[in-house]
Amino acid sequence: MGRFDRYERNMEQGGITEQQQEKLLNAKVLVMGVGGLGSGVVMNLAALGVGQIKVVDSEVVEENNFNRQLIHKYKNLSRAKVISAKEWVCEYNPEIKVEIDKIRIDDLNYFSTVDGYDIIVDCFDNFKSKYILNEIALRHKKVLVHGYAHGFCAQVTTIVPNKTGCLACIIQKPSSFKEEIVSSLSPVVNVASALQAQEVLKVITGLGEPLMNKLLTFDGLKGEFKTLAYSKNLACEYCAQAEATY
Ligand SMILES: [Zn+2]
Repeated sequence: MGRFDRYERNMEQGGITEQQQEKLLNAKVLVMGVGGLGSGVVMNLAALGVGQIKVVDSEVVEENNFNRQLIHKYKNLSRAKVISAKEWVCEYNPEIKVEIDKIRIDDLNYFSTVDGYDIIVDCFDNFKSKYILNEIALRHKKVLVHGYAHGFCAQVTTIVPNKTGCLACIIQKPSSFKEEIVSSLSPVVNVASALQAQEVLKVITGLGEPLMNKLLTFDGLKGEFKTLAYSKNLACEYCAQAEATY
């Protein structure tokens, strides 16, 4: 078996070159959260052949996760989600190196978790964590692929420090966050996670046009995709701070 046999259909009918597949095999991608979005992202990255994936999540697998979080098997009920996700990847594609970290990102003490990773995929289900991650990505000049899914609606964009607006430029950070359960149905969250993985693919290979300064939204009930333009907001606290200090 050759090194690229597994990825033959990526390169022939899929339309990427051997050099681009090599870039995927050498890439390191950090997935923050392995719930609905994170499940789909990790599975797609493993299929693409992203060589190193780090999965960060503090939770354990619960019964009500199985309606949409396809990476977790029933036998892993009550086990850490990061262990469950690693197990899936190792069985599916043993060539991939998987790192795990069972932590909760609730303050800014977790900068070390992004060390060595070029791209961060935001698969959190709550905006409090998303804004913290947004700041971490800006500080460390990492590409951040944002995703969000709730009900039948979802959105995806790619935030590149110094090139695009950030999450707070798109949606102003509220002064406080409500504790609310955000969830989605399997088809909707898996459309969003596939789009996030596609963004990672484009950023790594240089193919196509990542969703930079573009927010792609999806309404599953209407079957509608829309692309909304945004740009860096000069009044944004994160972007202003990033330019001044980071
Ligand atoms: Zn901003």
